[in-house]
Amino acid sequence: MRYWLVMPAAGSGRRFGACSPKQYAPLEGRTVIEWALRPFLEDGRCAGLVVAVPAADDEWPAINARLGGGAGTGSEGNVSRVRAVEGGDCRSRSVRHALAALAGRAAPADWVLVHDAARPCLAAEDLERLLTSVEPHALGGLLAAPAADTLKRASAPEPAHPAGAVGVAATVDRSVLWRALTPQMFRYGRLCAALDAAHAAGRFPTDEAEALEWQGEHPLLIAGAASNIKITTPDDLLLAGAILRARHTHGRSMQMRIGSGFDVHAFGPGDFLMLGGIRIAHSRGVVAHSDGDVVLHALCDALLGAAGLGDIGQHFPDSDARWRGADSRRFVSEALALLRQQGLAVANVDVTVLAQAPKVGPHREAMRAAIAALLGLAPERVNIKATTTEGLGFLGRGEGIASQASVLLVESAPCPPRS
Ligand code: MG
Repeated sequence: MRYWLVMPAAGSGRRFGACSPKQYAPLEGRTVIEWALRPFLEDGRCAGLVVAVPAADDEWPAINARLGGGAGTGSEGNVSRVRAVEGGDCRSRSVRHALAALAGRAAPADWVLVHDAARPCLAAEDLERLLTSVEPHALGGLLAAPAADTLKRASAPEPAHPAGAVGVAATVDRSVLWRALTPQMFRYGRLCAALDAAHAAGRFPTDEAEALEWQGEHPLLIAGAASNIKITTPDDLLLAGAILRARHTHGRSMQMRIGSGFDVHAFGPGDFLMLGGIRIAHSRGVVAHSDGDVVLHALCDALLGAAGLGDIGQHFPDSDARWRGADSRRFVSEALALLRQQGLAVANVDVTVLAQAPKVGPHREAMRAAIAALLGLAPERVNIKATTTEGLGFLGRGEGIASQASVLLVESAPCPPRS
């Protein structure tokens, strides 16, 4: 399927009480409207987005540029999917202006989603549920939340009541009441016709569904999360920030990278080995350009691999004199710096040493502590294992030593990257 996105963003937000309209209020490193647009910008099924902004709006151009769009209102030839039109004096007129901008691009049976610029917390799951639930339906529907609080109908104000207080006339049956959210999803042709009929009758619906209800239609109510809040007061921004941060923290378990590394060095003349940054006395040394630490070389490859950054040979070629006899901790530190630039952090490391000798056991805790310190991890996040090869192969014949390493990286950036 494909759909179009229309976003009325021309309101001045009188209840918001700031000099800037609420859709342009800063929120978690962006503006409210950028968060509101994000789920649709990230959805390949969204064929195009039309935003209805205030006339002579001086904030939209900068936001549009950050979204990868053109210079401003009505810019033709915009390479981006985002286009701005001038809004109207009320929501339904702004929506109608935006729909008019889709004429010639959207077919009458195409789906159009209308989403509030002041709803920055739409979850991807709710968008998915709306699309899959409404698609088979002829007319359309909207996200909505069942009323959770007990609801009272107020009586007329009386002089005896304190200022701002009214009496209760009745408790309302909340089981049949839902709060209308957005997106609302309708066929392009039907929505245009319903809004035109309403406007011709001098009626201005407060949401798109109402225009269709006036034509005797019954749009679907699709259960959506109450966290899809509408920013109305400055306090709502604090709540929206908490929702977005919680979602990002929770979502971090999904933002993981895994990497593996392997390294071998032949034994040669010498009386010690470097293993995991620890000097271990041995009857042989290793043949290597650097200090020949197979554990740190495997670890470095695992780190670079998890980050999609190639391998140790590309970053520290043994043809480069700078790395002659190099302390391999430097390779790991430099790889770690590259990961940090990408907002990646190491979650844990698991290393296996493969050799007939030397015995790793006596040095295990020292290696663990050294690697943990190098990576800035708690020692519990680093594991060192060792195995022989039961006398088989080049390792079994004592011709050399090998190591395998696995690492898990997590995205550590406080804010998701801009789309
Ligand atoms: Mg090596």
